[in-house]
Amino acid sequence: MNNIKNNINILKEKIQNLFTNKTELKKFKIVAASKNQSVEKIQMAILCGIYEFGENYVQEGINKIKKLKKNNKIIWHFIGKLQSRKTKLVAQNFDWCQTIDREKIAILLNKYRTNQKPPINVLIQVNISEETNKNGVSIKNYQKLAITVSNMPNLKFRGIMAMPKKEQKRIKYCDYQNIKNIFNILKNKYKSVDTLSLGTSFDIKTAIMYNSNMIRIGKSIFNN
Ligand SMILES: *Cc1c(COP(=O)(O)O)cnc(C)c1O
Repeated sequence: MNNIKNNINILKEKIQNLFTNKTELKKFKIVAASKNQSVEKIQMAILCGIYEFGENYVQEGINKIKKLKKNNKIIWHFIGKLQSRKTKLVAQNFDWCQTIDREKIAILLNKYRTNQKPPINVLIQVNISEETNKNGVSIKNYQKLAITVSNMPNLKFRGIMAMPKKEQKRIKYCDYQNIKNIFNILKNKYKSVDTLSLGTSFDIKTAIMYNSNMIRIGKSIFNN
Protein backbone atom coordinates (compact mmCIF):
# COMPACT_ATOMS: atom_id res chain seq x y z
CA MET A 1 0.00 0.00 0.00
CA ASN A 2 2.87 2.35 0.75
CA ASN A 3 4.09 1.67 -2.75
CA ILE A 4 0.95 3.26 -4.16
CA LYS A 5 1.60 6.41 -2.19
CA ASN A 6 5.22 6.53 -3.35
CA ASN A 7 4.28 5.77 -6.93
CA ILE A 8 1.71 8.55 -7.02
CA ASN A 9 4.12 11.07 -5.55
CA ILE A 10 6.76 10.14 -8.11
CA LEU A 11 4.19 10.31 -10.92
CA LYS A 12 2.93 13.74 -9.84
CA GLU A 13 6.45 15.08 -9.60
CA LYS A 14 7.30 13.73 -13.04
CA ILE A 15 4.25 15.43 -14.53
CA GLN A 16 4.97 18.71 -12.80
CA ASN A 17 8.44 18.69 -14.30
CA LEU A 18 7.07 18.12 -17.78
CA PHE A 19 4.91 21.24 -17.73
CA THR A 20 6.31 24.72 -17.96
CA ASN A 21 2.83 26.21 -18.25
CA LYS A 22 1.00 26.15 -14.92
CA THR A 23 -2.51 26.62 -16.36
CA GLU A 24 -1.99 23.59 -18.58
CA LEU A 25 -0.80 21.60 -15.59
CA LYS A 26 -3.97 22.49 -13.67
CA LYS A 27 -6.16 21.18 -16.48
CA PHE A 28 -4.17 17.96 -16.79
CA LYS A 29 -5.91 14.81 -15.54
CA ILE A 30 -4.58 11.51 -14.30
CA VAL A 31 -6.96 8.59 -14.65
CA ALA A 32 -5.81 5.58 -12.64
CA ALA A 33 -6.33 2.45 -14.74
CA SER A 34 -7.61 0.22 -11.96
CA LYS A 35 -8.50 -3.01 -13.77
CA ASN A 36 -7.77 -6.03 -11.57
CA GLN A 37 -7.03 -3.76 -8.60
CA SER A 38 -8.87 -4.12 -5.30
CA VAL A 39 -11.20 -1.58 -3.72
CA GLU A 40 -8.62 -1.16 -0.95
CA LYS A 41 -5.96 -0.13 -3.45
CA ILE A 42 -8.35 2.31 -5.06
CA GLN A 43 -9.07 3.80 -1.64
CA MET A 44 -5.35 4.20 -1.08
CA ALA A 45 -5.04 6.07 -4.37
CA ILE A 46 -7.94 8.32 -3.32
CA LEU A 47 -6.10 9.16 -0.10
CA CYS A 48 -3.20 10.26 -2.30
CA GLY A 49 -5.40 12.64 -4.26
CA ILE A 50 -6.41 10.54 -7.28
CA TYR A 51 -10.14 10.81 -7.95
CA GLU A 52 -10.54 9.49 -11.48
CA PHE A 53 -10.50 5.77 -12.21
CA GLY A 54 -10.69 3.84 -15.46
CA GLU A 55 -12.16 0.35 -15.59
CA ASN A 56 -11.93 -2.11 -18.50
CA TYR A 57 -14.53 -4.70 -17.56
CA VAL A 58 -18.12 -3.59 -17.06
CA GLN A 59 -19.15 -5.85 -14.20
CA GLU A 60 -15.88 -5.51 -12.29
CA GLY A 61 -16.20 -1.74 -12.63
CA ILE A 62 -19.79 -1.65 -11.41
CA ASN A 63 -18.95 -3.76 -8.36
CA LYS A 64 -16.33 -1.19 -7.38
CA ILE A 65 -18.61 1.76 -8.15
CA LYS A 66 -21.23 0.27 -5.81
CA LYS A 67 -18.72 -0.37 -3.03
CA LEU A 68 -17.39 3.17 -3.24
CA LYS A 69 -20.60 5.03 -3.95
CA LYS A 70 -20.48 6.92 -0.64
CA ASN A 71 -17.55 8.86 -2.04
CA ASN A 72 -19.20 11.20 -4.49
CA LYS A 73 -15.94 12.80 -5.55
CA ILE A 74 -14.90 9.80 -7.61
CA ILE A 75 -15.21 10.01 -11.38
CA TRP A 76 -15.51 6.67 -13.17
CA HIS A 77 -14.29 6.15 -16.72
CA PHE A 78 -15.01 3.14 -18.86
CA ILE A 79 -11.84 2.47 -20.90
CA GLY A 80 -12.33 -1.11 -22.11
CA LYS A 81 -13.64 -2.60 -25.31
CA LEU A 82 -17.39 -2.04 -25.24
CA GLN A 83 -19.83 -4.65 -26.53
CA SER A 84 -23.25 -3.36 -27.51
CA ARG A 85 -25.06 -5.61 -25.01
CA LYS A 86 -23.11 -3.92 -22.18
CA THR A 87 -23.79 -0.32 -23.21
CA LYS A 88 -26.82 0.00 -20.94
CA LEU A 89 -24.75 -0.80 -17.84
CA VAL A 90 -22.06 1.67 -18.87
CA ALA A 91 -24.64 4.38 -19.59
CA GLN A 92 -26.23 3.89 -16.19
CA ASN A 93 -23.11 3.63 -14.03
CA PHE A 94 -20.14 5.50 -15.47
CA ASP A 95 -19.35 9.21 -15.79
CA TRP A 96 -17.21 8.81 -18.91
CA CYS A 97 -16.95 6.33 -21.76
CA GLN A 98 -13.63 6.65 -23.59
CA THR A 99 -14.08 3.87 -26.12
CA ILE A 100 -16.77 4.79 -28.61
CA ASP A 101 -15.61 3.17 -31.83
CA ARG A 102 -18.81 2.84 -33.87
CA GLU A 103 -22.19 4.47 -34.38
CA LYS A 104 -24.15 1.67 -32.77
CA ILE A 105 -22.36 2.18 -29.45
CA ALA A 106 -23.06 5.92 -29.53
CA ILE A 107 -26.74 5.38 -30.29
CA LEU A 108 -27.19 2.82 -27.50
CA LEU A 109 -25.28 4.85 -24.90
CA ASN A 110 -27.47 7.83 -25.73
CA LYS A 111 -30.61 5.71 -25.50
CA TYR A 112 -29.77 4.25 -22.10
CA ARG A 113 -28.41 7.34 -20.38
CA THR A 114 -31.32 8.36 -18.19
CA ASN A 115 -32.47 11.94 -18.05
CA GLN A 116 -31.92 12.10 -14.29
CA LYS A 117 -28.18 12.07 -14.89
CA PRO A 118 -26.12 14.65 -16.77
CA PRO A 119 -25.02 13.60 -20.25
CA ILE A 120 -22.28 10.97 -20.14
CA ASN A 121 -18.88 12.34 -21.19
CA VAL A 122 -17.58 10.47 -24.20
CA LEU A 123 -14.41 10.12 -26.21
CA ILE A 124 -14.07 8.59 -29.64
CA GLN A 125 -11.34 5.97 -29.65
CA VAL A 126 -9.21 6.36 -32.76
CA ASN A 127 -7.22 3.43 -34.10
CA ILE A 128 -4.10 5.45 -34.70
CA SER A 129 -1.76 2.63 -35.62
CA GLU A 130 -4.31 1.44 -38.20
CA GLU A 131 -3.86 -2.18 -37.20
CA THR A 132 -6.77 -4.41 -38.05
CA ASN A 133 -6.76 -6.11 -34.65
CA LYS A 134 -6.71 -2.89 -32.64
CA ASN A 135 -9.78 -1.19 -31.25
CA GLY A 136 -10.99 2.18 -32.38
CA VAL A 137 -12.44 3.89 -35.43
CA SER A 138 -10.14 4.32 -38.44
CA ILE A 139 -8.63 7.67 -39.37
CA LYS A 140 -10.80 7.55 -42.48
CA ASN A 141 -14.05 7.31 -40.49
CA TYR A 142 -13.63 9.33 -37.31
CA GLN A 143 -15.19 12.52 -38.72
CA LYS A 144 -18.45 10.78 -39.56
CA LEU A 145 -18.62 9.20 -36.11
CA ALA A 146 -17.94 12.60 -34.54
CA ILE A 147 -21.00 14.04 -36.29
CA THR A 148 -23.19 11.26 -34.86
CA VAL A 149 -21.77 11.58 -31.36
CA SER A 150 -22.08 15.36 -31.27
CA ASN A 151 -25.75 15.15 -32.19
CA MET A 152 -26.72 12.91 -29.28
CA PRO A 153 -28.43 14.85 -26.45
CA ASN A 154 -27.40 12.44 -23.70
CA LEU A 155 -23.76 12.32 -24.74
CA LYS A 156 -21.26 15.07 -24.15
CA PHE A 157 -18.60 14.83 -26.84
CA ARG A 158 -15.31 15.63 -25.06
CA GLY A 159 -12.65 14.46 -27.52
CA ILE A 160 -10.55 11.46 -28.40
CA MET A 161 -8.69 8.57 -26.88
CA ALA A 162 -5.86 6.66 -28.53
CA MET A 163 -3.27 4.04 -27.73
CA PRO A 164 -0.27 4.36 -30.03
CA LYS A 165 1.77 1.24 -30.46
CA LYS A 166 5.32 0.86 -29.33
CA GLU A 167 7.21 -0.90 -32.11
CA GLN A 168 10.20 -2.93 -31.00
CA LYS A 169 10.59 -0.61 -28.04
CA ARG A 170 10.62 2.43 -30.28
CA ILE A 171 8.02 5.13 -30.02
CA LYS A 172 6.34 5.96 -33.35
CA TYR A 173 6.25 9.74 -33.25
CA CYS A 174 4.23 10.01 -36.47
CA ASP A 175 1.28 8.35 -34.72
CA TYR A 176 1.41 10.99 -32.00
CA GLN A 177 1.54 13.77 -34.58
CA ASN A 178 -1.52 12.30 -36.33
CA ILE A 179 -3.46 12.14 -33.10
CA LYS A 180 -2.54 15.71 -32.25
CA ASN A 181 -3.79 16.84 -35.68
CA ILE A 182 -7.07 14.97 -35.32
CA PHE A 183 -7.61 16.46 -31.87
CA ASN A 184 -7.03 19.97 -33.20
CA ILE A 185 -9.44 19.44 -36.10
CA LEU A 186 -12.18 18.28 -33.72
CA LYS A 187 -11.47 20.99 -31.17
CA ASN A 188 -11.91 23.64 -33.85
CA LYS A 189 -15.13 22.07 -35.06
CA TYR A 190 -16.90 21.18 -31.78
CA LYS A 191 -17.14 23.53 -28.81
CA SER A 192 -17.45 20.71 -26.26
CA VAL A 193 -14.19 19.02 -27.31
CA ASP A 194 -11.43 19.64 -24.76
CA THR A 195 -9.91 16.24 -23.93
CA LEU A 196 -7.09 14.26 -25.50
CA SER A 197 -6.75 10.98 -23.60
CA LEU A 198 -3.31 9.83 -24.68
CA GLY A 199 -0.49 8.26 -22.72
CA THR A 200 -0.03 5.26 -20.43
CA SER A 201 2.84 4.33 -18.13
CA PHE A 202 5.39 3.91 -20.93
CA ASP A 203 4.83 7.11 -22.92
CA ILE A 204 3.80 9.87 -20.51
CA LYS A 205 6.46 12.27 -21.71
CA THR A 206 5.77 11.76 -25.41
CA ALA A 207 2.02 12.04 -24.88
CA ILE A 208 2.39 15.38 -23.10
CA MET A 209 4.74 16.59 -25.85
CA TYR A 210 1.87 16.01 -28.28
CA ASN A 211 -0.73 17.91 -26.22
CA SER A 212 -2.27 15.10 -24.19
CA ASN A 213 -4.27 16.42 -21.24
CA MET A 214 -5.40 13.10 -19.83
CA ILE A 215 -3.26 10.03 -19.17
CA ARG A 216 -4.43 6.57 -18.14
CA ILE A 217 -1.97 5.06 -15.73
CA GLY A 218 -2.01 1.51 -14.37
CA LYS A 219 1.45 0.04 -13.76
CA SER A 220 3.12 3.23 -12.59
CA ILE A 221 0.51 3.62 -9.84
CA PHE A 222 -0.39 0.13 -8.72
CA ASN A 223 2.72 -1.97 -9.32
CA ASN A 224 5.78 -1.93 -7.17
C1 LIG B 1 -4.50 -0.95 -18.66
C2 LIG B 1 -4.76 0.24 -19.51
C3 LIG B 1 -4.03 1.41 -19.35
C4 LIG B 1 -2.88 1.54 -18.38
O1 LIG B 1 -1.70 1.01 -18.92
P1 LIG B 1 -0.38 0.91 -17.99
O2 LIG B 1 0.67 0.46 -18.94
O3 LIG B 1 -0.69 -0.09 -16.92
O4 LIG B 1 -0.13 2.27 -17.46
C5 LIG B 1 -4.39 2.49 -20.15
N1 LIG B 1 -5.38 2.43 -21.05
C6 LIG B 1 -6.09 1.31 -21.24
C7 LIG B 1 -7.17 1.32 -22.25
C8 LIG B 1 -5.80 0.19 -20.48
O5 LIG B 1 -6.51 -0.93 -20.68
